[in-house]
Amino acid sequence: MSRPKASSSTSGFFQALPVVPAQYTSSQSSQANHSLSDDPIFSRILSTYLPEPLPSHVSSQLHDFSRLVLAPSTLQHTVDCDTDLPTLHPLTTFGEENKNSALRTSEGWRILKQIETKAGVVGYGYPQSGFQQKFNRRVHQFATLHLWHGTAAVTTCPMAMTDGAAVLLRRHLDDPDGDQPGRGRVFLEAYRRLVSLDPSYAWTSGQWMTERSGGSDVRGTETVARRLTDSELQADIKGGRDKDAIGLPLGPWLVDGFKWFSSATDADMAVLLAQTSKGLSAFCAPLRRQSGNSTLTQATEMNGVRIQRLKNKLGTKGVPTAELELKSMRAWLIGSEGQGVKEISSILNITRLHAAAGANGTLARGLAVSRAYTKVRKVRGQVLSDNPQHLAWMAGETVKYRANAHLVALNVALLGASEQGHGAVAGTKAASVLIPEEKTQIDVLLRLLTPVMKAQVSLSSVSGLRACMESLGGVGYCENNEDGGVMNIARLFRDSVVNTIWEGTTSVMAEDVLRVLLPNKPTNTPNKTKSQAASPTTLDTILGTWLRPVLSHVVKHARPARTFSSEIEIIETRYRALNELLRDTGDAGELHWRGREVLEAVEAVTSAALLLFDASVDGHDEAAVAVARRWVRAHVALPRDRLYKERGFDWKEEVRLDRLIFLGCLPDESTSASASSQGLVLQAKL
Ligand SMILES: Cc1cc2nc3c(=O)[nH]c(=O)nc-3n(C[C@H](O)[C@H](O)[C@H](O)COP(=O)(O)OP(=O)(O)OC[C@H]3O[C@@H](n4cnc5c(N)ncnc54)[C@H](O)[C@@H]3O)c2cc1C
Repeated sequence: MSRPKASSSTSGFFQALPVVPAQYTSSQSSQANHSLSDDPIFSRILSTYLPEPLPSHVSSQLHDFSRLVLAPSTLQHTVDCDTDLPTLHPLTTFGEENKNSALRTSEGWRILKQIETKAGVVGYGYPQSGFQQKFNRRVHQFATLHLWHGTAAVTTCPMAMTDGAAVLLRRHLDDPDGDQPGRGRVFLEAYRRLVSLDPSYAWTSGQWMTERSGGSDVRGTETVARRLTDSELQADIKGGRDKDAIGLPLGPWLVDGFKWFSSATDADMAVLLAQTSKGLSAFCAPLRRQSGNSTLTQATEMNGVRIQRLKNKLGTKGVPTAELELKSMRAWLIGSEGQGVKEISSILNITRLHAAAGANGTLARGLAVSRAYTKVRKVRGQVLSDNPQHLAWMAGETVKYRANAHLVALNVALLGASEQGHGAVAGTKAASVLIPEEKTQIDVLLRLLTPVMKAQVSLSSVSGLRACMESLGGVGYCENNEDGGVMNIARLFRDSVVNTIWEGTTSVMAEDVLRVLLPNKPTNTPNKTKSQAASPTTLDTILGTWLRPVLSHVVKHARPARTFSSEIEIIETRYRALNELLRDTGDAGELHWRGREVLEAVEAVTSAALLLFDASVDGHDEAAVAVARRWVRAHVALPRDRLYKERGFDWKEEVRLDRLIFLGCLPDESTSASASSQGLVLQAKL
């Protein structure tokens, strides 16, 4: 018998290398071939919400962009962004505060931002001169983003806040200047820059809400703002310090305080919250101002912003997340004093959509890498693509991805409809069923579904990317930056986790959903019993009104007839159970305790309806039918519902057990006493 030949570091590798194909291939392209589109759900969603055939400039832009995002010349910037981390240089050579250029970001970070600005990841959501956009602009914008997220290295974070700031400023473009002369001109110029496709002109915006006293609850904001006195205004004018970096006037408010998290630290402007004598208010400020120093290099400096330190994070490595001290930052008041929470919420609706879309887009890349690897990796002499257990597992992950993609797409389409009007965006038969005609109905649906989507899609992408890593075995856990970085799922996983936290954690989203569904009932009262009956109709007027016509459409169009009758029964049962829960639970504390259950239920039925709808529009896509059925079986029919209906169920007893299981003590035992005795045990063991 001949002796086996030993492998070495450069020989003995017997497999073909995995190749990640382009996610989308335009049907109008010369390469048109269905099998060339690696992600069929992407095309299906486009044809649901955009006119068919796609406007040629949209279809060719998406076709070309889906190749650009995988090009080695682009991916080298992704790797650079993730490995050449931002640094802080707080002092000048002679030990003075560096007011000019304290932050250094990588070249990769800066180039990726330019690529995405040009690609319209913000701009395509807004009217652009020279582009014919008689369709849902938001769908085009978020389709571009969906292709981009796997490569973007979270440079999309400042873009989300830029989008939010543009929406906010647009609402105030017609406000009279009042006692802030010049504000309208500044807002208009800022808005134009925020939505620009030209990187040499475009601006990005930060959003500064979170302070040490709380990000979820901004009522504790400690940053304060006051009007400048006349003599302070005159002193700035005299010193040549009354203009921003592009020569626009600075606002008449002065902001002082400390912001605990700022991600877009290299942005051109920021929207922030500060207390005034009338309460929490929203402000807008440029990050740089003219320094009054006429020498060329020192012409501008930070506008009263000192970067205290950069955060050391699990992921989002290229993002220069920092703590900021604000000292005499000049700013413009947005809207009226005391209305800060209302103003900032219009940004939050946008950034939450970006967070969920980012989570889903990142998972799309993870699954693409997993598919590519599955096609080449051999185990026990067999390619993984022939291994039933492997396929069953990753098919389950793909079902969740497709359900999430539909939920995000519906939110995106609703946002476009709210902005452009139903008539402008319901150009396809599918969109005319899925998007309500009335703006009020569109807006309440968005209000309900945005937090549901943000919470559930973010969670699902973390678990999905973890599975994608595992699907590559040991290689999946490594930072594979060698071959352009496309195989680095570990980076995608690290980056995706933050989506469950920023823009509001899952619990905060659950509370927000209850605020919509129970408008007359305080939700954050876990220890108080409220006997006030829950409104039985709010869920019905918002979700039921949308759900019924969608399911009727499925019944009418599914082929063969009654294809989905048992799935529809399951959806209706789950929906009824949720309605009953909200109607019959008289205790606000119990509903607060069950917040995540409500999130899951709204997601389950909404996504089920969308998947069934998708599977019944053309009636012959076998995968779409199977995905819809599997989602309903795995995520809509929950045995837990039955558990809760068992006789003798008492939610307070469950809370008692929750505490015992998680904290190791009962309500009457002091947590701190228990913790300190645990500490003693540990010390004794040591
Ligand atoms: C990488 C990164 C970048 C960020 N960038 C920015 C930025 O640019 N601008 C900005 O303003 N912020 C930013 N943030 C902050 C982020 O938005 C907050 O961390 C987030 O909103 C959570 O707030 P918190 O940290 O105060 O946590 P807390 O609110 O203190 O949350 C602690 C725990 O309490 C729970 N909790 C809170 N409220 C409730 C409730 N009502 N019911 C049940 N449980 C609840 C939460 O779920 C969580 O488990 C960033 C954060 C990170 C990690």
